[in-house]
Amino acid sequence: MALKIPVRLFDQLRQHGEATYPHECCGVLVGEFDESGGKLVRSVVPCGNTRTDSLANRYHISPSELVRIQRDAILAGQDIVGFYHSHPDHPARWSATDLAEAHWTGCSYVITSVENGRALLSNSFLLLDQEEAKHFEDEPLKVIEN
Ligand SMILES: [Zn+2]
Repeated sequence: MALKIPVRLFDQLRQHGEATYPHECCGVLVGEFDESGGKLVRSVVPCGNTRTDSLANRYHISPSELVRIQRDAILAGQDIVGFYHSHPDHPARWSATDLAEAHWTGCSYVITSVENGRALLSNSFLLLDQEEAKHFEDEPLKVIEN
């Protein structure tokens, strides 16, 4: 199982993190689930960060924006396969808050560390199970040709 993303979309989500630095960026990954449980990203949808209390270490996508993105994805025969956000001057690892606020079981959560305005590492984490058993697992992130 892996999250596959074309290099042009991978660059796009990393550049989003550089553009919003020192604040977090966030967005949605739209694409397809394949039979083996892997995912292919077909488009990246940047979102506005609606958190106004702590832009540097929190992100939030508005419910109305998410509903619109999901509806557009379904109309295109696709699905929401994941989410992405940046960690300004922090490692590309999930935080306790990231886990608490993640609710899409089976989706990928891509985190990019942005140090001094430059995107460094990007890692993907797969959200598994629900309620108390909810957890992230490291997931291979495969950057593919466009
Ligand atoms: Zn985070």
